[in-house]
Amino acid sequence: MKGKKRQALAAIETRREQLGNLSDSLWDHPEVGYHETFAAQTLAQALEQEGFQVQRGLAGIQTAFSGTFGSGGPVIGFLGEFDALPGLSQKADCTVQAPVQEGNPGHGCGHNLLGVGSLAAAIAVKQYLQENQIPGTVKFFGCPAEEGGSGKGFMARAGVFDGLDLAFSWHPGEVNSVSTESTMANYQISYQFQGVASHAAMSPELGRSALDALELMNVGVQFLREHVPLETRIHYAITDPGGSAPGIVQPHAEAIYLLRAVHLPQVRELYQRVNKIAQGAAMMTETSVVITFIKACSNVIINSELNRVMQQNLEEIPPADFDEGDLELARRVQGTLTPSKSYFETLYEEITDPEERAKLEQDIHAPIHRAVMPLAQERQGFVSSDVGDVSWNCPVAQINAATAPAGIAMHSWQMVSVGKSPMAKKGMLYAAKVMAGSAIDALEDPTIIQRAKEEHKFRTGGRPYESPIPPDVMPRIL
Ligand SMILES: [Zn+2]
Ligand SMILES: [Zn+2]
Repeated sequence: MKGKKRQALAAIETRREQLGNLSDSLWDHPEVGYHETFAAQTLAQALEQEGFQVQRGLAGIQTAFSGTFGSGGPVIGFLGEFDALPGLSQKADCTVQAPVQEGNPGHGCGHNLLGVGSLAAAIAVKQYLQENQIPGTVKFFGCPAEEGGSGKGFMARAGVFDGLDLAFSWHPGEVNSVSTESTMANYQISYQFQGVASHAAMSPELGRSALDALELMNVGVQFLREHVPLETRIHYAITDPGGSAPGIVQPHAEAIYLLRAVHLPQVRELYQRVNKIAQGAAMMTETSVVITFIKACSNVIINSELNRVMQQNLEEIPPADFDEGDLELARRVQGTLTPSKSYFETLYEEITDPEERAKLEQDIHAPIHRAVMPLAQERQGFVSSDVGDVSWNCPVAQINAATAPAGIAMHSWQMVSVGKSPMAKKGMLYAAKVMAGSAIDALEDPTIIQRAKEEHKFRTGGRPYESPIPPDVMPRIL
């Protein structure tokens, strides 16, 4: 590793304690999407202390912010998340399920680490620009409500990511790997039926059931499933069954639908077809339906050039120094897990090169995966992420870093429990260095940015980003 890069990455190591405390303070104040006032304030203050220019309230969202350092191009962004999950409160380092406060949120997706890790990367790049008097701008984006709120989608709609040359992010988890999976585009919509209440036995002829309409809509959608592209995903939740008394004709009912497909135009078409079914159901039952658009995400555009750079950095930068204490905690947590196929196993199964497989052999049964997975084949994932909307604006790459025991599930109490442990913080600092190292490589070799942009243009067909969220839809969390 070149001296300048090593020096910049040392900025992360010298702030080790401070960054760990920042992550812990976010863990101690878990806040759900669009309510992350403590996290936003804490991270924004940390940026100001480092000399970043902070802009708060981006896109009209109180907890969306950015910190900018430097001037001129290239402009490199780091994406930070910090929202927690509702109801996942759990005591730290505790290997039985025990909430700190019953019903409170908890960091089950490790976003306390995610936000601080990306911030640490931004600080290292700032250090690099400053020490070497190099033109360029580094930006940290405080992105609220990743969990179900599509915060980045609303920020993208407002043009927050305009002018970026590249962006990097990461996710805490159980493996060290570059993310080569594209995500699905999605729409989330509410269908509210309105009918007429009546005594279901005495005067059923006077009632018009909103619940009947809702059930007919769902039946219609089940038939639609046969006639959509193979990868399509259609999910729904009945959020209002219209009441609990069968003796009353239900005058209101609501379902929330989540429609996913590989490409946005496919989701748009699916949405129109589902709307027709809802309207048909309303017509059949002489009720009415109000269709409310909640949010949307674009698919993630993979960038193999940036993925290659991130893979190099994953392999070049010394891995997290997990010690016996970390392994011990990991083993205890593993004792509470229900056996299932892990992400590591999924990636491992796909490796065909016997040499690569041999390299990972020692790691298969390790309590924490320390190895770096080889760069995987690109593939279509079935989840969605609001990083998709950033990736339509500029080339984006993401890594996963091991911050938790092997085999752990996201959104679990176990994930909350290890979120404050030394193991988690070690993984976070490793991820920060890999992201910063990748950005520094791009600053040192302009052909990286050039190639990444050419690829981006090719993959998007040169189409400019168009927000999938209509202009009148406001951010909210369900
Ligand atoms: Zn999550
Ligand atoms: Zn997450």
